[in-house]
Amino acid sequence: MHSDVLIIGSGLAGSSLALSLPTTMSVTMLSTTPAPCGASPMALGGLAAVLGAEDSLEQHIADTLEAGAHHADPDKLREILAAAPQAVQWLLQHQVPLDRTVDGQLHLTREGGHSQRRIVHAADASGQAIMQALTTSLKQAAHIRQRPYCQALALRQNEQGRVAGVDIYDQQNRSYETLSADHVVLATGGLGSLYAQSSNPASALGEGVALAWRVGAQLRDLEFIQFHPTCLHTQGPGFLLTEALRGEGGYLLDAQGRRFMPDYDSRAELAPRDIVSRAIASQMRLDGSDHVWLDVRHLGAETLQHHFPRALEEGLSRGLDLRHDWVPVAPAAHYSCGGIQTDLLGRSLVPGLYAVGEVACTGLHGANRLASNSLLECVVMGRAAAQTIVSCEPTTHVNLIPPPQAKPANKTALPTLSALRALMQEHVGLLRNHAGLSHALESLEDWRDAIGPAHPTNPKQQAFSLQLDTAWLVVQAALARPLSLGAHFRMN
Ligand SMILES: Cc1cc2nc3c(=O)[nH]c(=O)nc-3n(C[C@H](O)[C@H](O)[C@H](O)COP(=O)(O)OP(=O)(O)OC[C@H]3O[C@@H](n4cnc5c(N)ncnc54)[C@H](O)[C@@H]3O)c2cc1C
Repeated sequence: MHSDVLIIGSGLAGSSLALSLPTTMSVTMLSTTPAPCGASPMALGGLAAVLGAEDSLEQHIADTLEAGAHHADPDKLREILAAAPQAVQWLLQHQVPLDRTVDGQLHLTREGGHSQRRIVHAADASGQAIMQALTTSLKQAAHIRQRPYCQALALRQNEQGRVAGVDIYDQQNRSYETLSADHVVLATGGLGSLYAQSSNPASALGEGVALAWRVGAQLRDLEFIQFHPTCLHTQGPGFLLTEALRGEGGYLLDAQGRRFMPDYDSRAELAPRDIVSRAIASQMRLDGSDHVWLDVRHLGAETLQHHFPRALEEGLSRGLDLRHDWVPVAPAAHYSCGGIQTDLLGRSLVPGLYAVGEVACTGLHGANRLASNSLLECVVMGRAAAQTIVSCEPTTHVNLIPPPQAKPANKTALPTLSALRALMQEHVGLLRNHAGLSHALESLEDWRDAIGPAHPTNPKQQAFSLQLDTAWLVVQAALARPLSLGAHFRMN
């Protein structure tokens, strides 16, 4: 099957791109689960844009540069941030129910690292509201064909080296297919689920990074993985306990029930996110534990019910009552600041291949992401890549070259995804050192050898081989940066 545009991933970045293409173009959008899926509907806070009278683009730029440890690309981030107000307008055109003040203005909240109120939001479930509205628009767009349960396993190039197709596995029909397209876009999201402790959806396994790398795309900043300090440490999907719980006076306790944050920073639980995350990781090491405790009982049942209903509800669904119990928490892999290097038109360095959203690296985030800058990047870059595609000369259709032959895996030594996650958590997490990273690299190289370049009749193994490659690329990047910067913290 041939499409003008093939988008791999239907989160906010893929959906923004699809909905910005003209109805005259045929568009196919793949996802591993039905829409809305990925991290986008999980986003809580909102989207940053300079809209307040007191605010300015210069201040948003300064805050973003500061958060990113001055590693971001100042020219690129200026353009992306300048386009944020139009991105908000575009969301409103798609009927996204953003919160408003009594006089009808968009309500702006403030988050850590922002010097001004500039976060547009829909209560505390912004991603869900955005994706519900865009899903409705997508259903009305006859030119966009959505294919859920379809996993991209390899990009295919034509004789000129242009990416012009993708091999997929359709989990519902249990069949392989090769789809061709004039333009192929990776919008596969982040890689947090390569870690044992993650806030990300199960689909965030970084496959897009390896897909692009295997056809020669340039990658950038993969070592910068942002961790959120307090993710509920229980069975089931990761759930973030908002930093406001600490802001309101919650305590972090060690294995003996002792407050430990004052030992690490005079601001105790109110220290910046990365300091709290590293203190928790250090304390867990000292205690030989895989979590610490969050105690918010003293905030009172009424405050918890009134201000933190979601956290209370989520805890109760896992048998934990924040009003009466300490709850186990641990830092969780949250956001990948790096990815496939693109320009401001959404193009990777490989002809025909685009990347948008969390899988891409435009240079906006630098070494650490400023809160609420990622949803804005998804919309701005999704729309920009659509413009690029529309303005391209039509391509001539040339045959796809066949994929390379793969050897069967050495079944005696096959690793598992949980072993990979444990390895990444232990050695490539918040606190990194040379010995740990080298051990991780060695293990990953053994596992990559064991699984081979992926056997073409086993989709699970093919996907796992992509995940291993991405993990290996992250470790390579972390080893290549011996000094700490932003979210990358080297102990030695
Ligand atoms: C709990 C949480 C809260 C957050 N809160 C905020 C916030 O308030 N503000 C903010 O700016 N950011 C927030 N973020 C970050 C933000 O949500 C993400 O960076 C953003 O949604 C990523 O969007 P995306 O479209 O790039 O990817 P996603 O929304 O993750 O979508 C990825 C898509 O790719 C598909 N996919 C993946 N691999 C394959 C494959 N091999 N083949 C086919 N399809 C594939 C998936 O099925 C999915 O459709 C939060 C993240 C989390 C986890």
